[in-house]
Amino acid sequence: MASTIKTLPTEVVYLIAAGEVIDSLASVVRELVENSLDAGATRIVVSLWPQLWRVNVADNGSGMSLDDLQQAATAHSTSKINSCEDLERITSLGFRGEALHSLTTLAELEILSRPQGSNLGWRVVYSDRGKADQTELAAIAPGTVVIVSNLFANCPSRRKGLPTQVQQMKAVQAVIQQIALCHPHVTYQIWQNDREWLTISAAVTPGQLLPQILPQLRVGDLKELRLKLSHPRNIDSELLLVVGLPDRCHRHRPDWVKVAINGRMIKSPELEQTIFAAFHKTLPRDRYPICFLHLLISPNQINWNRNPTKTEIYLQEVTYWQEQVAQAIDQALRISEANIKESAHTSRITKLFKASEAGGGYNLGTENSHTNTQPSLKAVAQVNNTYIVAEHVGGMWLVEQHIAHERVLYEQLCDNWQIVPVETPIIVSKLLPAHLLQLERIGLEVEPFGEQLWAVRNIPAMLKQCQDCESAILELSRGGDLQTAQVAIACRSAIRNGTPMTIPEMQKLLNDWQNTHNPHTCPHGRPIYLSLDESALARFFRRSWVIGKSHGI
Ligand code: ADP
Ligand code: MG
Repeated sequence: MASTIKTLPTEVVYLIAAGEVIDSLASVVRELVENSLDAGATRIVVSLWPQLWRVNVADNGSGMSLDDLQQAATAHSTSKINSCEDLERITSLGFRGEALHSLTTLAELEILSRPQGSNLGWRVVYSDRGKADQTELAAIAPGTVVIVSNLFANCPSRRKGLPTQVQQMKAVQAVIQQIALCHPHVTYQIWQNDREWLTISAAVTPGQLLPQILPQLRVGDLKELRLKLSHPRNIDSELLLVVGLPDRCHRHRPDWVKVAINGRMIKSPELEQTIFAAFHKTLPRDRYPICFLHLLISPNQINWNRNPTKTEIYLQEVTYWQEQVAQAIDQALRISEANIKESAHTSRITKLFKASEAGGGYNLGTENSHTNTQPSLKAVAQVNNTYIVAEHVGGMWLVEQHIAHERVLYEQLCDNWQIVPVETPIIVSKLLPAHLLQLERIGLEVEPFGEQLWAVRNIPAMLKQCQDCESAILELSRGGDLQTAQVAIACRSAIRNGTPMTIPEMQKLLNDWQNTHNPHTCPHGRPIYLSLDESALARFFRRSWVIGKSHGI
């Protein structure tokens, strides 16, 4: 078999960001696991003995022929690219042909490999220049095992500079988790000192895998989207998005906003900013969203040679991608007909119900409801003058009237901020110079009106209906930016809990609320609704126990 690993021509080497990438246990793990993924592995086992500075990575990937195996660790040798043009069509994680070579200079390296479909495996031990020193037959399953030992033995300062073992293992864990989110269809098993330490099982989507990484999450706390995008120069690009629903989960640090491009987690301040902005005023104070974004785009839009570790890239047309991401998050957070019905259609119990109750009193919807434009949430009652009971095809929701209305008003205010004149000025007292400044900053005209009194001649349009305009203005004067003021006005103007509402009023509110961008939470981050899905209700009432007419089914 002809060798496919070749040494890169010098002109290609010049175009590649040079620099040492092997600087820790975690970086060894990253390089080797990436090689396994490039080889198409679906099962990767990493074994670490940190005290011995030893790492093994075994995979069930393509394996290497003997020729390749002997060539694999020489400088700048790779099977993944050949020419300068190839740098614009990188579809693999590796391409510099340097990791194995570096390892031979920083550690002892041996590799066992057997190509898929071949009945012979080989073991090669490399010298410190990457030359194949010893070659012998090895009895192994198809795939590759890379064995790195005595890492950094020849550079004690490097070892000394590294953090504690516990921290290094944390870094290894983070590397594996990031890789797993980008490549969820693979099973990862990490052993430490001959004990199983971390396993991430394969999943179909990153959203299904995420609860293995953040165990407090459930799949229902997340919303996942996969969108095909049609960009003229990016045929077949895709956007994968997993968001934590803001009423279900958030973090106290901004540590779970993650961006990946073409299989690799990267730092992209621009896209991260877009994500944070999309969650603005949906979360409680000082809380941060959970969001994983993965863009799969034409390789010629990306330059991976910004730094040797490939964590920073040059991405073309960032604004275009920012827009797509903002729209996708908007779509993920909305309450759409499709979102509501999703659970109903996957619920076996609901189907069962539908069949047995055909013509009965339950409003479980019919196939026609796919096409009609009737609002999918139907107001049926008010409880304690506070909660709206809303019925829909997949169950029922309790919606808190005040905060649902607050969300509606807040978005109206943001979309349409208007300051309007009032016929009789509103007289306010107790204003300090800072308060006056604040009112001016949000666009109000304030004039002195005598001793410690001021006249306000124009106000935000929404406050016109407000009973107690003076205290509303005082509240606005007490600080914050325009958005804080908008939140305050929305809160003040929204219908109070304790107010009776008629069915049409409730229906109107439900309709308006369903059309907001961020229906899950109010602008302070409080959840707006509690869902009682039909499947959960059926489970609670043990409806699957007895199926018979006598039990009301
Ligand atoms: P790069 O990944 O940039 O090509 P490496 O030094 O990491 O460079 O690997 C050199 C070559 O060795 C790869 O191009 C690949 O052909 C081969 N290789 C490395 N690891 C594996 C593996 N686990 N399975 C199959 N081939 C491998
Ligand atoms: Mg590599």
